[in-house]
Amino acid sequence: MDQLRFDGRVAVVTGAGGGLGKAYALLLGSRGAKVVVNDLGSGRDGSGKSNFADAVVKEIKDKGGVAVADYNSVVEGEKIIKTAIDNFGRIDILINNAGILRDKSFTKMSEQDWDLIHAVHLKGAFKTTHAAWETFRKQKYGRIIMTSSNAGLFGNFGQANYSAAKLGLVGLANTLALEGAKYNIKVNTIVPTAASRLTEDILPPEMFQAMKPELIAPVVAYMVHESFEDSGAVIDSTLGFATKTHLVRSNGAPLKKKPSDEVTIESVKESWSKVVNMNGAKHLQKIADVTLDLVDKLQEFEERSKLDSER
Ligand code: NAD
Repeated sequence: MDQLRFDGRVAVVTGAGGGLGKAYALLLGSRGAKVVVNDLGSGRDGSGKSNFADAVVKEIKDKGGVAVADYNSVVEGEKIIKTAIDNFGRIDILINNAGILRDKSFTKMSEQDWDLIHAVHLKGAFKTTHAAWETFRKQKYGRIIMTSSNAGLFGNFGQANYSAAKLGLVGLANTLALEGAKYNIKVNTIVPTAASRLTEDILPPEMFQAMKPELIAPVVAYMVHESFEDSGAVIDSTLGFATKTHLVRSNGAPLKKKPSDEVTIESVKESWSKVVNMNGAKHLQKIADVTLDLVDKLQEFEERSKLDSER
């Protein structure tokens, strides 16, 4: 297969001073993209500031690539996008990757722990994406990545703030995939699991060694390539493996025996095992299908009841 390249493309990678973002920036830089290596250089909990991005820019340049450092917080995402425009005159790819942790059991979680996580993960992605959106629309081209987490998709003890923000990013991507469709803006979500300073005390040492960010970078790079057609996908990747996740809905059940009956708490209890039975559960592609599916089921129920009463 011909090499997939990014010549002429400008990519912004947030939080690219280390971990996953660094791997993304290095790979894109090695394939011809001009890269804005953004990183606030904060600690794992969001405190402090330093110039992590410089070493990554140097590495890209040493290998013959083009890159510039940006030290703004994603909370001021418009400044990061401005760095791309000021230095390279355009932006084509935005990888929202910056992240921090403030893990605590819910009892101990302060409002500040909640707000800071939301500011960096969810509001930060909103700010960068909103700043780039008009350019993407005008040029009818844009590739955006949101970074979620299995903690968001499935929940994880001690991560109420992080889980909520991370699932919020999936919701944001779902809607932007729709709004961006006619402008050739593809918005997808990566769910990575990799060795980084965020996971060094969570993953067992042998796993930590094996879970290299470099194994996920090609997945993300493919998802921001011009040949990539999907939008609104949630892709989980680790250890050189990738899967897609999506929501499914059960076939459900009417909450009464016949259409003229009342719905009561007791009738809900009686129907419950059918409501939550996931055999034959369906993935519905869009919001209109969700409503249509319900209307179809109700009609079916009414017709069946009519036939039963005529027998
Ligand atoms: P990391 O700590 O190595 O990288 C995150 C980077 O973001 C850091 O360099 C940090 O300085 C930077 N950053 C923090 N706040 C910032 C801000 N306000 N503005 C700009 N930069 C900021 O961690 P990582 O594991 O590489 O994480 C990357 C992303 O992947 C995060 O969004 C994280 O939540 C997500 N994630 C990681 C894993 C994993 O297994 N490592 C799992 C699920 C999700």
